[in-house]
Amino acid sequence: NPREHVRNFSIIAHIDHGKSTLADRILEYVGAIDKRHFHAQLLDDMEIEQERGITIKASAVTINYKADDGHTYTLNLIDTPGHVDFTYEVSKSLAACEGALLLVDASQGIEAQTVANFFLAREHNLKIIPVINKIDIAGIDIDRVKEQITDILRLEEDDILLASAKEGIGIKEILERVVQTIPAPSGDDNNPLETLIFDSSFDTYKGVVIYGRLFNGQLALGDTIRMMQANKICTVEEIGVFRPQMTSTKALHCGEVGYITANIRDPKEILIGDTITLADHPAQQPLPGYKKVKPMVFCGIYPVNAKDFAELKVAMEKLGLNDSSFVYETETSQSFGYGFRCGFLGLLHMEIVQERLEREYNLNLVLTTPNVVYRITTRDDKVMEVDNPAKLPDPVQIKLAEEPFVRAFMIVPTNAIEEVCELTKQRRGEFLANDYLGEERVKVIYRMPLAEVIVDFYDKIKSVTRGYGSLDYEFDGYNPTKLVKLDILINGKICDAFSCLIHKDKAQAKGRLLVEKLRELIPRQLYLINLQAAIGGTILASEKIRPVGKNVTAKCYGGDITRKRKLWEKQKEGKKRLKQVGNVEIPQEAFLAALKI
Ligand code: GDP
Ligand code: MG
Repeated sequence: NPREHVRNFSIIAHIDHGKSTLADRILEYVGAIDKRHFHAQLLDDMEIEQERGITIKASAVTINYKADDGHTYTLNLIDTPGHVDFTYEVSKSLAACEGALLLVDASQGIEAQTVANFFLAREHNLKIIPVINKIDIAGIDIDRVKEQITDILRLEEDDILLASAKEGIGIKEILERVVQTIPAPSGDDNNPLETLIFDSSFDTYKGVVIYGRLFNGQLALGDTIRMMQANKICTVEEIGVFRPQMTSTKALHCGEVGYITANIRDPKEILIGDTITLADHPAQQPLPGYKKVKPMVFCGIYPVNAKDFAELKVAMEKLGLNDSSFVYETETSQSFGYGFRCGFLGLLHMEIVQERLEREYNLNLVLTTPNVVYRITTRDDKVMEVDNPAKLPDPVQIKLAEEPFVRAFMIVPTNAIEEVCELTKQRRGEFLANDYLGEERVKVIYRMPLAEVIVDFYDKIKSVTRGYGSLDYEFDGYNPTKLVKLDILINGKICDAFSCLIHKDKAQAKGRLLVEKLRELIPRQLYLINLQAAIGGTILASEKIRPVGKNVTAKCYGGDITRKRKLWEKQKEGKKRLKQVGNVEIPQEAFLAALKI
């Protein structure tokens, strides 16, 4: 029975604890790829076309491992898709596994995401193998980290493995533990097919590539399959496994992980979390799939060049396929023209999406100020969700405004606790609980508005704890709030790119900062520029940018034409990075700076 020798597992950890490095070492150890080749391939990845890049950057790898018991095992190492460190992404992978390696950095100890991921793996009933990584670092206290693992996670000390992913220490012990303690997949080849779609990507030649885990039944080339929720029928054109390159096979069996292509050209036809079954021998009902996650943070994304809109649209669709927690719809802005309103799980997610769009699709983008989703009850008792400042009803129509709150969970050094308290107080946080984890660390829990967390709270926590603090948060309902729309007027006209929804008590300070920053960043132009921050008709702050006197070329005294020309060229260069809003030119960095206030 081949299923007995299959093991499906993930690597989970707080960011930077060595997940990717360990995956690399495991691949090397089993000879999936030799050392020199490995690096060459990774470098290639950056340069080759994105369609090939995606196939190599597989989120599942199948390797063979000959264990000490003499059997050769098929190991499916399922990575969390993309570089996103979000719970939801991890959760998708865990649903396809029976076990998880929980890495803890020996020099950092347990951090917020270590705990969050641990509980997630627990929820999925996975066998958890704790591994202390980076034991090569000098001066670390391994016993202290062991103590944290037994105290906080209640795992057995004897079960803890030691490793250095960097030096390749402990790899064999990890693989032996995987085959000995992680259960083989259950299910039966003869049952109706149940394949969980846990991820997907797009290949120019093959179309949509589905990443699936078979929980029951088997799948062969040419089978007619049905996506149970999308209710779409198609024919399997290719199936295979990632080694890590896509390697086609004739069939996939119960318990296995692999890819499926079926000449699906429209990325939107695939739902992550859907179940694939056989059209003529279907499963009774789909697998539980995934909870639909709700984006928490919204912003507008626009191409710097209006002509890139079509390209941006295609990029959004492809990216959406790879990242199902990202949502978007078209919108128009007075300042920027056609673009998209996009929803993200958090600000880090937003930054990653922006980076991927710019890097993988070679686009130049502007993002508008991000905001959370407010819940507004109007005088006529209609309840609406507002994810865009432009959609906030007239203040006289608003009966109740509510904003989302989170439970923020932090692990910080004991000596930084006062600064952390001060910081959370400034962010309207309410203390809930604390818990000392030995002498050096303390776990603190606050309830605070999501809007206060998304901006730069994590950076601030990192800075007041000198890098030793960590943060995790989860949605915790809505609370009434005093909400206003803050606008920036340029020569009397609202520039919607700078509009934001904000707590009333914070509007004054933010408005002031915004106009001051814009005065610094917008270059002087031929006429006076008036900058104002306002709520409705009330001006909160204003600044002026005086006009430039004469044409800059006047400096050249009319003489040397080549010098003049050079100056003109230089001015034109500079203009490329400017965005025309009304008759004022605003540099791209002004929009970026506004995001950070
Ligand atoms: P991930 O975010 O969990 O995927 O972490 P990475 O694998 O990207 O590693 C984060 C950093 O830690 C990188 O700079 C690695 O080189 C380093 N690192 C990973 N494993 C080890 C280790 O065993 N020892 C040491 N000294 N550094 C390591
Ligand atoms: Mg990584």
